[in-house]
Amino acid sequence: MIPEKQIRLLPPELQNQIAAGEVVERPSSVLKELIENALDAGATRIRIQIRDGGQSCIKISDNGSGIPEDQLELAVTRHATSKLENLQDLQQIKSFGFRGEALPSIASVSRFRIASARQDGEGGVLEVLHGRILRQDKTAMPKGTDVEINDLFSNVPARLKFLKKPGTETRKCAELVARIALANPHVDFELINAERSVHRFLAGQDLVQRLAAIWPKEVVESLHGVSYMDGPLSIHGLVGDPAMAQGRPDRIFVYVNSRPVQDKTILSAIREAYRGRILGKEYPQAVIFMEIPPDEVDVNVHPAKTEVRFQDDGAIFRIIRRAVLQTLERNAHQTQTSDLAQPLSVSQVHTSLPVMEPPVFVPGLINSKAGQDSYTYDQDWPQKFSSSAAAQKLFEASDSALPEARPAEDVQATRNSLTEANTSKAQAPAGVQYLGQFAQTYLILAAKDEITLIDQHAAHERVLFNMLRAQGSRRDRRPLLLPLEIPLHPAQATLAQEIWTKLDELGFSLELAPGLLMLHSIPALLTPSKAKEFLQDILTDKATSMEDLWAVMACKAAIKAGDKLTPDEALALVDSWQHLPEKNYCPHGRPVALRWGISDLEKLFKRRP
Ligand code: ADP
Ligand code: MG
Repeated sequence: MIPEKQIRLLPPELQNQIAAGEVVERPSSVLKELIENALDAGATRIRIQIRDGGQSCIKISDNGSGIPEDQLELAVTRHATSKLENLQDLQQIKSFGFRGEALPSIASVSRFRIASARQDGEGGVLEVLHGRILRQDKTAMPKGTDVEINDLFSNVPARLKFLKKPGTETRKCAELVARIALANPHVDFELINAERSVHRFLAGQDLVQRLAAIWPKEVVESLHGVSYMDGPLSIHGLVGDPAMAQGRPDRIFVYVNSRPVQDKTILSAIREAYRGRILGKEYPQAVIFMEIPPDEVDVNVHPAKTEVRFQDDGAIFRIIRRAVLQTLERNAHQTQTSDLAQPLSVSQVHTSLPVMEPPVFVPGLINSKAGQDSYTYDQDWPQKFSSSAAAQKLFEASDSALPEARPAEDVQATRNSLTEANTSKAQAPAGVQYLGQFAQTYLILAAKDEITLIDQHAAHERVLFNMLRAQGSRRDRRPLLLPLEIPLHPAQATLAQEIWTKLDELGFSLELAPGLLMLHSIPALLTPSKAKEFLQDILTDKATSMEDLWAVMACKAAIKAGDKLTPDEALALVDSWQHLPEKNYCPHGRPVALRWGISDLEKLFKRRP
């Protein structure tokens, strides 16, 4: 007998605590919401103080418009906002906020105080503890708003455990403040950590002056300006010289309508523009601002608002790539002539690299044109991101090849999927010869005037990722006769609950038991052992966006480096991969193919000056 349970509306503080799971991940996400509120209020001076990485205390004061005393309670009520009135407004968002969720969420997981005044003199103050209002009063203060947050997550131990060391959280806060400051040069920002000033950005500084405060001098001095218009779209910013490329992607900042975003389309377009100019494992510096009519971009994708969705991803990719490429080509001229005039210096050649690494600087690769009848990689990018019929077949075929939960057979499943997709008719693209597999990892292709190495794992990942994305939420699931069990840490259980519906969309049917996650069905694309690995990985790495989940799933289902492929399998893979618009990068942004034209080889062998 299952006891009958009443359906009940949750009390508001619990609703807010649930919403907080998505809006406030860590102190820097709290800070982001508060700074954006101050900017939305028209502040020109924003002062921030933090302690213990923001966990024990975050204070922020601004000189913005303030909140009327009688509306303070509304400000901490869910879905209450002054920035939006109807659906039409939502499609034309110009403010940072609009969901009316941040303050109530933050106030539900902390000790929270907000004081605000519309004019110098008298204002109101409101105190909240874990979502319950404790006190409301009048207070004397200058025009603006002060928010103070203490003991963040003290009532959510699972979240507290996810926080990194205070030093790391402080660094994330400092990065966040700098990132926002770069897009708002008219605003004076100050960040103080435990009484010590971390950042001071004076109002009226330009982008280069603000960057000089956070990046090394030689990097800032190497930056080239980007300025590009395409219809209603405009792009401006700064990009680093290829010679200054670095090993980490931590100096790439992208803004859409002044909003800092993490956008894979724009990031891969920037990398694509540098292709052939820097090493596959290097990253450029870039600060890119894109202005786009608000109705062509959806900012309401995730509560944290760091993701956006474009009406036409393909067009955005092409335009960003072109904008950056134009700047690089304009500035490459000087570098190129001086390189030719004198031999490369040791530091330019990167002596520590193994011999098989691609050249440091290969001019002309991007625009190299193969003959009419041969296989060109650099056709114009198609309008929409779609997958080829071959990719579709490849994907479907991998559905039907699900073996027992034995890792050795995982490999076989994927391999079957490769050949079944194209039966035995797999052929190299016209004018291209498949020369074989190197190191059981790279496929070697030769065209009339170009040789290409393809990373088989990265290429297959790209194929599967695009398939997953194209299929939307209609995911096939594979029921398991005996449920699989994964031991879970309580924090992981919380995370699993947060992404429950996404996991369901992917094809998982799951059940939570104390300390355990039970798998009743799994996505048809994965074998049981890979499905287990998938869940363990995402719950450890905290992958939460759909894109992240697809990327991890594609990675798990793809053939690996070291898998020996028959020529048919290799050609089937190349065939599915070659038409994908983002084929040059795997979903994690690593390059999939490296190419050398005849003139590149002639230069490398010094057959020609
Ligand atoms: P949203 O920003 O999505 O509207 P929030 O929960 O962040 O939702 O804030 C709720 C409301 O409180 C805002 O719409 C705004 O009217 C007011 N508010 C919040 N912070 C400030 C501030 N620093 N200055 C003026 N008004 C503010
Ligand atoms: Mg807000």
